[in-house]
Amino acid sequence: MDLGLKGRVAIVAAASKGMGKACALGLAAEGARVTVCARSEADLLAAANEIREKTKAEVLAVPADVLRPADIRRVVAKTVEAFGGVDILIANAGGPPLGSFDQMSDAEWQAAFELTLLSTVRLIREVLPHMRKQRWGRILSIQSSSVKQPIDGLVLSNGIRPGVVGLSKTLATELGKDNILINTVCPGRILTDRLQSGLRARAKGAGKSLEEYLPTATAEIPLGRIGSPEEFAHVVVFLASERASYVTGATIQVDGGLIRGIP
Ligand code: NAD
Repeated sequence: MDLGLKGRVAIVAAASKGMGKACALGLAAEGARVTVCARSEADLLAAANEIREKTKAEVLAVPADVLRPADIRRVVAKTVEAFGGVDILIANAGGPPLGSFDQMSDAEWQAAFELTLLSTVRLIREVLPHMRKQRWGRILSIQSSSVKQPIDGLVLSNGIRPGVVGLSKTLATELGKDNILINTVCPGRILTDRLQSGLRARAKGAGKSLEEYLPTATAEIPLGRIGSPEEFAHVVVFLASERASYVTGATIQVDGGLIRGIP
């Protein structure tokens, strides 16, 4: 199947590692021109070089912190300057810290709101004029299976990520007339640095090594294993493509069957 991504322009936020990087690589492999951003310039340049080498695609690296409005504006402006527009936005950020309700102050709730929800709002606001002008756009937000089923010990994620789903559903209605499609993609357990550190913390809490804890971490996953960033990216790349032209307002988990609920 030709995904129709050749020549499309994509911005992938928080893309020096993990799922963001895998999404950028997947889009570049399908012929898209890709802007990647993340805070650490060294990691970002290494990721951009790796993507260029593997795909021969045009890759623009713009160091940016998605917590800073001026950085977001710069990422979009530099993309438009280099590639002439923006077709696809993959809104992504690092996740809020682990912890339970009693551990979180107002400052931690505020920081999680800004990282998870406000960064998504600002990224979308900045790309919309370009997508509206061309009457074509794909916006995907990387969230978590926690929007379908809260995860123990992750109160900030459980409390704030569902707001992004509410935002996406609202925008699916508001942006349909402009042929801009918006969906939320929810990883279950995907083998990235973030998951490894989360698993290490849980293993430590259970008095086990990471290796000893892995069977516990995979026991409730019907496919019996943790997913790879590439498996996650395949779904994102499809949803970003021409072929996903009738999918908007959806919240799709990529979780090996972890979530048992029906909706
Ligand atoms: P990761 O730690 O492997 O990568 C995170 C990326 O975000 C890195 O490139 C980092 O530099 C960048 N980043 C972090 N904060 C940033 C900021 N303020 N501005 C710009 N870039 C920033 O993480 P991941 O596992 O790929 O997770 C991506 C998202 O998916 C996170 O929100 C995470 O909470 C969520 N998630 C992950 C899993 C999983 O199993 N890995 C499961 C559910 C949800």
